[in-house]
Amino acid sequence: MKRVDVAVIGAGITGILTARELSTRDPGRQIVVLDSADLAGGASRRSAGLHFPRGSTPRARAFAAYSHDYYRRLLADHPSWPLFPLDVSVVAHESRARALSEKYLEQARLVRGSTPPPLVGLPDGTAVWDGTGCHYADVPAVTALLARQLRGQVEIREGVEVVGLTSDADGCTLVLGTGVTLHADRIVLAPGPWLHAAPWRDLVAPLGARVKKIVALHVEQRPTDDDPVVVFDDEDAFLLPMVRRGHWLFSYTCQEWDVDPDTLSTSLTGAHVAEARELLHRYAPGLRAAAASGRVFCDAYSPDGAPLVETLDHERRIVFAGASSGSGYRFAPATAAAVADLLSR
Ligand SMILES: Cc1cc2nc3c(=O)[nH]c(=O)nc-3n(C[C@H](O)[C@H](O)[C@H](O)COP(=O)(O)OP(=O)(O)OC[C@H]3O[C@@H](n4cnc5c(N)ncnc54)[C@H](O)[C@@H]3O)c2cc1C
Repeated sequence: MKRVDVAVIGAGITGILTARELSTRDPGRQIVVLDSADLAGGASRRSAGLHFPRGSTPRARAFAAYSHDYYRRLLADHPSWPLFPLDVSVVAHESRARALSEKYLEQARLVRGSTPPPLVGLPDGTAVWDGTGCHYADVPAVTALLARQLRGQVEIREGVEVVGLTSDADGCTLVLGTGVTLHADRIVLAPGPWLHAAPWRDLVAPLGARVKKIVALHVEQRPTDDDPVVVFDDEDAFLLPMVRRGHWLFSYTCQEWDVDPDTLSTSLTGAHVAEARELLHRYAPGLRAAAASGRVFCDAYSPDGAPLVETLDHERRIVFAGASSGSGYRFAPATAAAVADLLSR
């Protein structure tokens, strides 16, 4: 039976950054990453990839600050990688000035603005704050570039499903769909929205995480290089200028809970388009008609919105990493570091 030090289940942005962190901290460690599909084939493939330096809880703010610095360094080291810096305009009710100054990190350098961002009108009672420090990324491409760097130090097995998982005092045993059995001293479970897969359903259930659909519309109007991302903070929605793709993306909060990543439809419904257009009509009526296509998938959500990094078994060999509540790209570096900290105890 093959033996490794750590097996990471899931080759999305969380699993790949976790493998990178573990390998960087201990280059001699034998690590394998397993994914039933291809690299970044889950939530990471559909991600809008927006990072903004903010968090609703102290833990989320700490994760956001760590990831902010990490991605800044990654881009400095790899200027040609597809991470695109952006300014931000935050639109919110005037009364929320104090709440915004607590929620947004100092790296956002948020100040009260005087004019609405392009394409947006300010409804009565709302105001705008301008800032910086955001970026958006082509998440599958960044994941693949990170994986390319890792290959040789870390074994990455795509198209290999984990169908069985047990642990005891001697270690963990993984049964793979290929018929192979793998022994690992520790397991990192980074399954994205596949919380309910049979091998770990019962282990993960006590975390209280749930899976929610995420919907974003593509707005067929060309942004410019200078357009900021516009965050509608009261509604947890944003309008992202995807300059490299040549259109805007409008993300709003869809409330369809407890969906299954294996059976959900990745097509928009009329109800999604109507919901998104209603919100767009409030802030950017001129874009309403141009929002007719988009992307649909799902993500795992934790009870308080911050990522979960928790041991799942008595032997403390299996660590869950994820449930980043629709922010798994921007929290992934900090999640990976928290996993590495936990494994080093
Ligand atoms: C439409 C959309 C827009 C989003 N926009 C943003 C955004 O702007 N900013 C942001 O920060 N986040 C965003 N998110 C959320 C973010 O994309 C996710 O939180 C993040 O990609 C999760 O990454 P992950 O690696 O944890 O999970 P995933 O990318 O889902 O990876 C999990 C992997 O586990 C594998 N797996 C599952 N079961 C098994 C098994 N039995 N055996 C082996 N492998 C298995 C899957 O194949 C999958 O590849 C968005 C998500 C969606 C859907």
